[in-house]
Amino acid sequence: MLPPGSTIGILGGGQLGRMLGLAAAQLGYKVHVYAPDATSVAAEVTAHHSQAAWDDEPRLAAFAATCDVVTFEFENVPVDTVRFLSGHVAVRPGARGLEIAQDRLAEKSFVAGLGGRPAPFAAVPDRAALDTALAEIGTPAILKTVRMGYDGKGQARLTAAAAADAAWDGIDRRAAVLEGFVTFDHEFSVLLVRGIDGEVRFWDSPVNVHHGGILATSTLPPPQAVLEQQDEARALMAKIADALDYVGVLTGEFFATADGPVFNEMAPRVHNSGHWTIEGAVVSQFENHIRAVAGLPLGSTATAALPVVMHNLIGGGIETVPDLLADPACHVHHYGKAEVRDGRKLGHATWVGASPA
Ligand code: AMP
Repeated sequence: MLPPGSTIGILGGGQLGRMLGLAAAQLGYKVHVYAPDATSVAAEVTAHHSQAAWDDEPRLAAFAATCDVVTFEFENVPVDTVRFLSGHVAVRPGARGLEIAQDRLAEKSFVAGLGGRPAPFAAVPDRAALDTALAEIGTPAILKTVRMGYDGKGQARLTAAAAADAAWDGIDRRAAVLEGFVTFDHEFSVLLVRGIDGEVRFWDSPVNVHHGGILATSTLPPPQAVLEQQDEARALMAKIADALDYVGVLTGEFFATADGPVFNEMAPRVHNSGHWTIEGAVVSQFENHIRAVAGLPLGSTATAALPVVMHNLIGGGIETVPDLLADPACHVHHYGKAEVRDGRKLGHATWVGASPA
């Protein structure tokens, strides 16, 4: 168990790092944020900050020397960075989950190998392979880059094979995977935390609604169909966590279909669909992630009260903060980002045991 006063390193400087930093402070830890970006909303609430490149080995070694354990809040941290740091300090979770989650093809094969069911898919390493994949998968379909996709970025939807050229250009002609379009009733996520001793706890699954590929809301309780599929999805995520000897919060995103849960993707980190746990669960995803990586006992993941609604503030949505503050039941989170851009996550609002006014 990491004693209070120890330093936890966080790779990545966004809002997830900010909320992890606040949870770490609550437990008496100091946080050192490492990120290449000029500004960091995580570093604004933490003690130490290194602004340096992911491949700057002297800076990484110096960072590691100040940390008792390192974790990450960003799933596109290069795997080589984590491997390098692992030679200097414990990194939790380890590089393997990150490596798999960064490669949509590896991820689907890994999950299918553990008995999970992803959408039908075919590899599209080049333009010619897209025609073959379309013949196999059919339309509608979604073309997704193998790497560096999040929040619907690096994706093109195809309603007809004739749109192949436009879709290929739309993803900048990068190596991709073609996925059959899943007819789903709902989207939901499984949020789990696995402790250093292998204990696994799950939060209740919210139903998630996306707009333009970006999470808009997470709500509990979810519809009955999600409640019925939650256990099967949980069993898969626990297998994944065990196979990776994972430590910390792991998220899986699923489609609830007429034939059961279809695995969409996983994130080896705390997740936007778990923000409701700050006020809506006995112990939040952020606190439990810190507890896990610090080797502390895990806290209860039970839901505090129903209903729970988490509403993202994206782009101009941040301008609704004064109205949200006028609702006494609303917990408002402003990430303190200076620049308002379309599609950028700038804050969120949560209601627990109450609905939005
Ligand atoms: P992703 O970045 O893969 O999570 O995709 C963003 C969103 O696009 C998902 O949350 C779904 O709403 C939608 N989506 C992605 N893949 C599929 C699929 N194979 N079938 C139907 N909808 C999808």
